[in-house]
Amino acid sequence: MRTDVVVIGGGAIGAAVAYYLKLLDPSSDVVVVERDPTYTLASTPRASGGVRRLFSVPENIELSSYSIPFFEGFPETMAVDGVPADIGFHKNGYLFIVPPAGVDQLRRNYEIQLEHGCNVVLLEPDQLKARWPSMVVDDLGGGVHSPDDAWLDPHSVLRGFRTKAVSMGAEFVSDEVVGMERDDSTVTAAVLTSGRRLGANQFVNAAGAWAMDICKMLGTAIPVEPLRRFEHYFEAQDPIEPLPYLKDTRRLAFRPEGKGYSGGVPTLTEPRGYNFDVDRSCFEEVVWPALAHRFPQFERTKCFSTLPGLYDQNDFDGNAIIGPGLDGMANFHLLTGFSGHGLMHAPGCGRAMAELLLTGEYQTIDLTRFGWQRVLDDVPLRETGII
Ligand SMILES: Cc1cc2nc3c(=O)[nH]c(=O)nc-3n(C[C@H](O)[C@H](O)[C@H](O)COP(=O)(O)OP(=O)(O)OC[C@H]3O[C@@H](n4cnc5c(N)ncnc54)[C@H](O)[C@@H]3O)c2cc1C
Repeated sequence: MRTDVVVIGGGAIGAAVAYYLKLLDPSSDVVVVERDPTYTLASTPRASGGVRRLFSVPENIELSSYSIPFFEGFPETMAVDGVPADIGFHKNGYLFIVPPAGVDQLRRNYEIQLEHGCNVVLLEPDQLKARWPSMVVDDLGGGVHSPDDAWLDPHSVLRGFRTKAVSMGAEFVSDEVVGMERDDSTVTAAVLTSGRRLGANQFVNAAGAWAMDICKMLGTAIPVEPLRRFEHYFEAQDPIEPLPYLKDTRRLAFRPEGKGYSGGVPTLTEPRGYNFDVDRSCFEEVVWPALAHRFPQFERTKCFSTLPGLYDQNDFDGNAIIGPGLDGMANFHLLTGFSGHGLMHAPGCGRAMAELLLTGEYQTIDLTRFGWQRVLDDVPLRETGII
């Protein structure tokens, strides 16, 4: 079988590409190969669901500024047969707080965010205290609040993109890519477990934390590896005023969820690998002390669940790698390495990849700097917005 585009991996990223391809060119033939239609281990349903503009790299801000309003209108835009695609969008803002040593960087990022039209407010510790009275601010230098940022339900986003893309004619194949065929600089086919061989003009590697395996099948390597991260659900014993999605010092990140909170402390020191083991001591030893340090109400807290998931961690510079060029291959496009912010950029990146595939260039947001070339040139594009 031969098609226009084969997308490998049908998570939020792959499904978004399929949707935008059909939107921008309804006549295009799009096949998404997803080995697990239940998405048991996929990263998307395990994500925390935060969507924010608080970045330092302009492209990341632009991707958020495109994607967040898109998410806001998602139920209507993605409706199929009049049934809205609800994604539980909560526009309750984000707040980054930093110690005194982080204020200069925070302020620089804030200025870049302002330049890009973001609604952001720089707050001194006493202003933080006035706004969120339960917060301990003694060790803080300041914070940036972005009231238009939000969180949402990641699985619903995936389902919304997938269902809509299928309604528009994209085909989702439940099968696994086990081999890739190439002819020098051209990829010719993806070979599936079923024995099927899918030929295409263009291929997109949207296999998330498993993207490096697809590259290995082509005899190549990328600096993207699986990095385990836990998402915990916990409740405070005593009430706290309504909070935004909070990125604290010590990499603590959490947000309200139902009666409690959802969050964790990602660490880059974690060994890379497909590790889904649950380490129950992580909450007690790392997360709880950080929570109790910031809000006394967490002195007595209970962790009800710990869910492991994988980042598609780009150890080169922590940003996505987007587009062709790996090992000289012109029709094999990377769309991976999101390193913890892929869900929030799925709409923007889905659109960008569709534009690239259909016209050969970016039309909405220029993501050239996220290309493979920077790895070849050994020029990392580091995000300093993640503190
Ligand atoms: C705990 C945690 C919290 C996070 N929080 C956030 C957050 O708040 N905000 C945010 O923006 N991001 C967050 N992320 C990151 C986000 O989850 C990812 O960046 C995003 O989901 C990546 O989407 P994806 O479609 O590339 O990957 P996935 O959802 O993993 O999809 C890849 C798909 O490829 C399929 N696949 C793999 N190999 C093959 C093969 N050989 N053949 C066929 N199919 C294959 C897999 O089955 C999988 O379904 C978080 C991640 C984790 C783990």
